[in-house]
Amino acid sequence: MSTIQQNLLNIQKNIPNHITLVAVSKTKPVADLQEAYNAGQRIFGENKIQEMVDKHEVLPKDIEWHMIGHLQSNKVKYMASFVSLIHGVDKLKTLKEINKQANKHNRVINCLLQVKIAKEDTKFGFSFDEIKALFLSEELSELQNIKIIGFMGMATFTENQQQLQEEFSSLKSLFDEIKAKSKNHSLTVLSMGMSGDYKLAIENGSTMVRVGSSIFGNRNYNL
Ligand SMILES: *Cc1c(COP(=O)(O)O)cnc(C)c1O
Repeated sequence: MSTIQQNLLNIQKNIPNHITLVAVSKTKPVADLQEAYNAGQRIFGENKIQEMVDKHEVLPKDIEWHMIGHLQSNKVKYMASFVSLIHGVDKLKTLKEINKQANKHNRVINCLLQVKIAKEDTKFGFSFDEIKALFLSEELSELQNIKIIGFMGMATFTENQQQLQEEFSSLKSLFDEIKAKSKNHSLTVLSMGMSGDYKLAIENGSTMVRVGSSIFGNRNYNL
């Protein structure tokens, strides 16, 4: 068994069955994804549209491709025919573009809204107030070719467990509140947790973890 396959098994052991594991394969060669695929992994996350398109072309067609990176609206069209979940939607304008491109392919594309939970300033995402306003408005229901199935959050890059815990649980609270108030029965996914913090994220309500370096090893450059 290869190192990648061993890593994958170890992580699967750490994750309860009802938690979805997204194998984050950005920057990694197709051969590495194929190894994970051969060990049974079917969901892969990429953060650059072109890279995901290239890998989609050559890898087996039963893979579910998740876009986890920050989106440029003008590139949405390249993945609209096949992407299965877009995690990082942080603007209404981007949602409208996804809706338009999905419509061209007669599809409904599942999306997560990215919510700002980190105390640091650099992360993308809607504020809590913006999320609440968006769900009160009619704007989402007008977009027939997208479905918001949950939220995504990225915690601060820190070792401080208390702070991470607060950030994760704040998003879980917002998720529960919006679910209760909006009567949106599609809200089922809470995407939080990466290699360093997925266990804590799961303890705090995550249903989907995005794990890269713990499966594929360190990346050569920092994204
Ligand atoms: C790269 C990335 C991950 C995975 O990070 P690791 O620390 O390697 O597990 C998860 N989520 C997003 C949005 C990423 O860009």
